[in-house]
Amino acid sequence: MTTPLSRRQFLASTAATSAVVALHPFSASAATNQAHLRILSTTDLHVHVRPYDYYADKPVDTVGLSRTATIIQAVRDESTNSILVDNGDFLQGNPMGDYIAYERGMNEGDMHPVMKAMNLLGYDCGTLGNHEFNYGVDFMDKVVQGANFPVVCANFGKTIGSAARTDDLFYKPYTILEREITDGAGEKHAIKIGLIGFVPPQIMNWDRRHLEGKFGARDILQAARGWVPEMKEKGADIIVALSHSGISDAGEAEGLENASLYVAGVEGIDALVTGHSHLVFPSETYAGKQGIDVEAGTLQGKPATMGGFWGSHMGLIDLMLEKDGDGWKVVTSESSTRPIYKRDGRKKIPLVGDVQAILDATEADHEATLEYIRRPVGMTDAPLYSYFALVADDPSVQVVSNAQLWYIKQMMQGTQWEGLPILSAAAPFKAGGRGGPDYYTDVEVGPVAIKNVSDLYLYPNTVRAVLINGATVKEWLERSASIFNQITPGGQDQPLLNPEMPSYNFDVMDGVTYQIDLTQPPKFNKAGEVVNAGANRIVNLQFGGAPIDPEAMFVVATNNYRAGGGGHFPGADGTTTIFEGPDTNRDVIVRYIVEKGTINPKADANWSFAPVPGTTVTFETGPAGRRYADQVQGVSIAPAGDGENGFALYRITLG
Ligand code: MN
Ligand code: MG
Repeated sequence: MTTPLSRRQFLASTAATSAVVALHPFSASAATNQAHLRILSTTDLHVHVRPYDYYADKPVDTVGLSRTATIIQAVRDESTNSILVDNGDFLQGNPMGDYIAYERGMNEGDMHPVMKAMNLLGYDCGTLGNHEFNYGVDFMDKVVQGANFPVVCANFGKTIGSAARTDDLFYKPYTILEREITDGAGEKHAIKIGLIGFVPPQIMNWDRRHLEGKFGARDILQAARGWVPEMKEKGADIIVALSHSGISDAGEAEGLENASLYVAGVEGIDALVTGHSHLVFPSETYAGKQGIDVEAGTLQGKPATMGGFWGSHMGLIDLMLEKDGDGWKVVTSESSTRPIYKRDGRKKIPLVGDVQAILDATEADHEATLEYIRRPVGMTDAPLYSYFALVADDPSVQVVSNAQLWYIKQMMQGTQWEGLPILSAAAPFKAGGRGGPDYYTDVEVGPVAIKNVSDLYLYPNTVRAVLINGATVKEWLERSASIFNQITPGGQDQPLLNPEMPSYNFDVMDGVTYQIDLTQPPKFNKAGEVVNAGANRIVNLQFGGAPIDPEAMFVVATNNYRAGGGGHFPGADGTTTIFEGPDTNRDVIVRYIVEKGTINPKADANWSFAPVPGTTVTFETGPAGRRYADQVQGVSIAPAGDGENGFALYRITLG
């Protein structure tokens, strides 16, 4: 068991505290029968207990509860009354979490590293996020049993019936902390602080394989309206919602994923800790939305915070309370967040040091995780390289598509889209360009380590699926194919790629076959605007061995960037999204490799250039790609000497 540090031990273990905080005006001005209560919070930690990026295998200054802890302690030190809460998504989301779940397991007496850190910090309460279910309910419960604070969730249970209060919940829906609070005159008073937790009911879909038939999740607002009155009956003076749910003004509806704005409107709730969206509240992101006041830091007039993700920020709600008969009421509030780093151009400058006690407590887990990410988790029978990803179907893109298809197929089960054909769109992220001649994915045949996965998938995107018709599939591919220059038939050594167009907007689609006619002009420009409306570069587009039906509907697996309008792809402007995965594409690839054991992502040459007799083009790639050049499928390619800036030049014969 980890025991909480005494304040003196804690301070002694805090290195380089630069988070000096002035005495808050609420504390300075509190009178007799007025008390300043501070609610400190973290959300979406995702096992980021230390400032380390395990995918890149290097230290970073943007994450880590060991850093947030320094701010937590600094704010506590100048607070008369404070509580510390966590808003969920703590046990999954980086390779340390995968290591514990997939490798070490949670055996009798084991303590999860995130729990070690949280216990050291002496949290007062926590709730469940949707990612707590990713490794199954048994695993979650073993982690939660290690908490020396209550973990509450009002809308997840074994049986969800007709009314919230009769639900057979898995954990307690709420807790009421009975505390002593010091008023402005130094007098101590009793206070009952109620804390209630909510998780997005979408867990039933996202973690269907763990939950279906055994568990249920209630609508967040129903649960809030069901349980808050009971908390009042039991004497809660103030009630804080731990809402692992985002903030959206899209309107009240049953089963909302991002319900926090409407939770704020539930009678009896005084303040909200929000999360799930990995954003910051208050911030300009939320300005101008109905019911949201970013100046006051309120949702429907109730103070709220969202403290970023991975320990990037501590959330802070300051409440000025006043004695109200036997109880307390909120008279004023403030909401803010405190970051652990700041940006200076592209540089990220740390604002605080680490709490050494957290580093010490998790050192062994850290070392074991390093060993884990550097060790194979699976095998590949095919080399995974991106040297030719812009000129031919490519294994580094294929493995991403295979994993996305595998995942979205599971996610469509039991939905109205089950049975529709699923395609996958993926682009090469590491493909030279401005990154230089070494900036390519290159994983040899044999073992695949976790750290290789960041090479395969550079960005922490999350998986999305969109629903589009066959005609839009073609338009999507026209947008991709606009990366190429127009080629003159019969011309020799014409430069193939338009250097203005980034490789991450070259989506390849798996599940269909097609050719690209380079003699046509590009349909789209760099900004995604139609510049040649009549252009048709995509030819022989087929699904299931026959020309694609323009009216037929397809589910396309992609990522949040693309589905939300990134790159301005036709059919991907946010309105076509039918599935928003909680999982990162990277996590999905790791899970795919772990579950398959051996993968064989051989490119299947499902796309190629249409023949142009007597015509050649040139393109540059990394010189290390030479050893794969004769394996490239569907294109006739030969070395053509050196390119510029250390690149190697190749010639493609289109005839
Ligand atoms: Mn999260
Ligand atoms: Mg393919």
